[in-house]
Amino acid sequence: MKKHIAIVGAGVGGLATAARLGSRGYKVDVFEKLPRPGGRAHIIEDAGFKFDTGPSFVLMPSFFKEIFDYCGRDLSDYLHLAPLDIHYKIFYPSGKELVIYRDSEKTKAELEKIEPGSSRQFDRFLADVGDMYTSVEPLLYKSFTPKALCNPAYWSLLWKLKTHKTYWRLAHDFFKTDELVYAFTFEAMFIGVSPFHAPAFYSVITYADHVQKVFHPLGGMYQIPLNLERLGREFGVEFHYDSEVTHIQYRRQPALSVHGQKEQFDIAVVNADYAYAQKTLLNRMLPKYEYSCSVYLLYLGLKKKIKNLEHHNLFFAEDLDKNLNEIFHEGVVPADPSFYVHVPTVTDPLMSPPGKDIVYILIPVPNLETYQGQFREYEPRLRKLVFEKIKTVIGEDIEDLIEVEHRFYPEDFVSRYNVYHGATFGLAHTLMQSAFFRPPNRDRRYKNAYFVGCSTQPGEGLPPVIASSRIVADLIEQS
Ligand SMILES: Cc1cc2nc3c(=O)[nH]c(=O)nc-3n(C[C@H](O)[C@H](O)[C@H](O)COP(=O)(O)OP(=O)(O)OC[C@H]3O[C@@H](n4cnc5c(N)ncnc54)[C@H](O)[C@@H]3O)c2cc1C
Repeated sequence: MKKHIAIVGAGVGGLATAARLGSRGYKVDVFEKLPRPGGRAHIIEDAGFKFDTGPSFVLMPSFFKEIFDYCGRDLSDYLHLAPLDIHYKIFYPSGKELVIYRDSEKTKAELEKIEPGSSRQFDRFLADVGDMYTSVEPLLYKSFTPKALCNPAYWSLLWKLKTHKTYWRLAHDFFKTDELVYAFTFEAMFIGVSPFHAPAFYSVITYADHVQKVFHPLGGMYQIPLNLERLGREFGVEFHYDSEVTHIQYRRQPALSVHGQKEQFDIAVVNADYAYAQKTLLNRMLPKYEYSCSVYLLYLGLKKKIKNLEHHNLFFAEDLDKNLNEIFHEGVVPADPSFYVHVPTVTDPLMSPPGKDIVYILIPVPNLETYQGQFREYEPRLRKLVFEKIKTVIGEDIEDLIEVEHRFYPEDFVSRYNVYHGATFGLAHTLMQSAFFRPPNRDRRYKNAYFVGCSTQPGEGLPPVIASSRIVADLIEQS
């Protein structure tokens, strides 16, 4: 008889693992503390506005296709991933703007306006990073331990992946102006690390963005967890919401404590935040990990449509070096923040009532390990700064247009999703917490305990989290 598997958490990692294992005939029960699936990829619905609260970029669409293929289904029966013609718009403090298009020729014309000669460098940069991508992609579906480094096959890879360089340094080899180096490294913030600190091989994210393009699931990002849950249900997976697991005990088999009762399973897969789960669910001491930054989020439903913003917009700080230092080293709320503005209604007007817009603002801030103060003290200053910068672009004060508003603080990542230190993107993607050195997907001590999600291998972001569910499903199938 196939084994009975418990999954702790219905984030994208838990949902994807449940669907895969369900499709292979396992009996699967998912326990989620919140009333709905999605975890960090959640939704707030208010007055006809559908606010996706977490991810907003769909990159690497092949990873989304892979999970549906694995389950014998067709992605297009579940999700419609629409390509964006304008990937994003960057607003520099100098007043310059840079638009990144799906059509690379149009992007090149934009780059030339900022740095003459950069369109050729753009091709060279993508060719160089493309080689890395080809080496990295198959590894994303594999689990490693540091022992793998004894295998000489991986030694040449370390060189190929330029592990001696940072994300920033690599882009600097190709572009001269800080403006373009920023434009080709800001994606490091997608994984919650500074481009000055992230290893060069994460520039595969920049490659994915420019070469594989940027997509939006029609209906909003929440369609992703919703349809993964639907996929699981089709294979008999049972979902238990409002069901927080308070402890996991391992003897021969894992036993989960839920609603004051202990229930035994053959296998447990933990999707809850890795550091939180090690400490709280398994009562283990944590090694000295480095954590990603946190974010402060505003979800605004506007009374009317606004002008001049695209689906994705980035506003860069005057002094990016200082801004990143404040977030990652000094642990203070940035004086002049870089921030991201998401207006999904540019592409998907049905996400708001007719004639209205959604504006989601994300400001990277220190996590709660480095930042011990009261974030709310700085909030009015931060809001004012951000609203003023947006006003220079849309020509009106966004505050006057707000019909509905929701806010999300670093502390909310802890209270809502049990994210350790409110580190939005989990364990930081430093060199020593990447690949072989990132927590593995199978527990080192208990052979029937597995971990899936953004702080495990291969890492942070929806495509890697989906890949981590594949790693876990393969390990269980082989066990
Ligand atoms: C603001 C933001 C912006 C982002 N932008 C992007 C983007 O543009 N593109 C992209 O690809 N990625 C993006 N990401 C990253 C992406 O959303 C995450 O990598 C991914 O959603 C993490 O999924 P997960 O399954 O690892 O973890 P989680 O989403 O954290 O899921 C874990 C689940 O476990 C539950 N849980 C915790 N403890 C317990 C317990 N004790 N018992 C039961 N359940 C429990 C939690 O409630 C949660 O539902 C973003 C994330 C955030 C927050």
